[in-house]
Amino acid sequence: MELTTSSNIKVVTAKESKINSVDFENLTFGNVFTDHMLVCDYHDGAWDQPVIMPYESFTMDPSSRVFHYGQAIFEGMKAYKDDNDDVWLFRPDQNFERFNKSAVRLAMPEVPEEVFLGGLHKLLEVEKDWVKKGKGNTLYIRPFMIATGQGVIASPSNEYRFCVILSPAKAYYSGEVKVVIADHYSRAANGGIGAAKAAGNYSGQFYPTKLANEKGFQQVIWTDDATHTKLEEAGTMNVFFRINDTLYTAPTSERILDGVTRKSIVELAPTLGINVEVRPVLVSEIVEAAKNGTLKEIFGAGTAAVVNPIAGFSYQDTYYELPKLENSFAAIIKEKLTNIQHKLDTDTFGWTV
Ligand code: PMP
Repeated sequence: MELTTSSNIKVVTAKESKINSVDFENLTFGNVFTDHMLVCDYHDGAWDQPVIMPYESFTMDPSSRVFHYGQAIFEGMKAYKDDNDDVWLFRPDQNFERFNKSAVRLAMPEVPEEVFLGGLHKLLEVEKDWVKKGKGNTLYIRPFMIATGQGVIASPSNEYRFCVILSPAKAYYSGEVKVVIADHYSRAANGGIGAAKAAGNYSGQFYPTKLANEKGFQQVIWTDDATHTKLEEAGTMNVFFRINDTLYTAPTSERILDGVTRKSIVELAPTLGINVEVRPVLVSEIVEAAKNGTLKEIFGAGTAAVVNPIAGFSYQDTYYELPKLENSFAAIIKEKLTNIQHKLDTDTFGWTV
């Protein structure tokens, strides 16, 4: 599939590229940005012409709504380069749709397809040298929108900025991940903004995650806010649990982000002979399965790490270690999915664009 480019995008190129000063072998995730960004402003009920311009700071009024009321949303996606120097995206239509769902939930204007996808296509054309070949090398894409309207009145802004920045990334190795299952704090509630990729969903997790870090755990697996009995998702990943030879993952809801990696795994795994069931997963059954040895794996699934195996979990101060498997489902799925993304295997699903 080919993305169409809007011709209605202005390009102002940077005088000098910083690409030669970047050490692509030693990148810290999300720290280095490319030479250009896409910017498109909204005011008086309409979007301006999108502009690709040199990456630089914004100047904003201190009363801009985003600073006070957190009217801010974002997306996370990646670009990959194959051996023919072609640049590929993985299911970008899904990120575009999710972005506009988040926009509606935060009372922000929807971004037109020619701005989001057309603008991204053009930006990647300008920045294609920043996408490096080789499995594991990617260009992380961060589209976001903030409320730029002035005034500290607690109501939606009339002005917004949509922007896309790009950051080169190496394969993401997080090392051993131990998690805490939440039994007090919550990430989201019914009727809230949990299913949106809204900035506030992340800031709200920082404190409980910091408490978990202090106890030697890297992340929290969130449970439903009402009863804390159902397992939902991790900070930036959906979660899969393997009991015997079946993978279980929670259904998406108002509280859970509809992850692109998650839904791809639900489709992909059965083609690899792995059975997946989407149904509520109870904390009690996972604890029981850990005790009786039927819990084989837990892994997170998300764009940044693709698949992130979990070494063990703590629940109400008891730690449960997971077995170290040779041919884990996590490894099999990660291999297949990254091969599709990097165009090393045929994409029978039509996911790569
Ligand atoms: N849950 C949350 C809260 C996230 O921030 C992310 C990352 N976008 C995910 C799940 C995984 O989603 P995806 O596979 O689309 O990256």
